[in-house]
Amino acid sequence: MVNSEPSPAVARACAHWPACPDADAPDREAALPVATHPEQGWSLLCNGVVLFEDTGELLPDGRIIAPRRPTDARVAAQA
Ligand SMILES: [Zn+2]
Repeated sequence: MVNSEPSPAVARACAHWPACPDADAPDREAALPVATHPEQGWSLLCNGVVLFEDTGELLPDGRIIAPRRPTDARVAAQA
């Protein structure tokens, strides 16, 4: 007998190819956006990460990643 009920894990699985990086992956920001709210300054990525336009992130487990500003990195590289 086959159980056709979709489990929550399957329902949340990525349907993209190549598959989006996991929320714990270093390249988590490479996941495809599934909902974008530019007027509010954030996007929901396929892996459940909320990416803010200041590069801050909110992970699915509630952790917050502080913004990393590319402009600061560029200034540091030139110094
Ligand atoms: Zn995906």
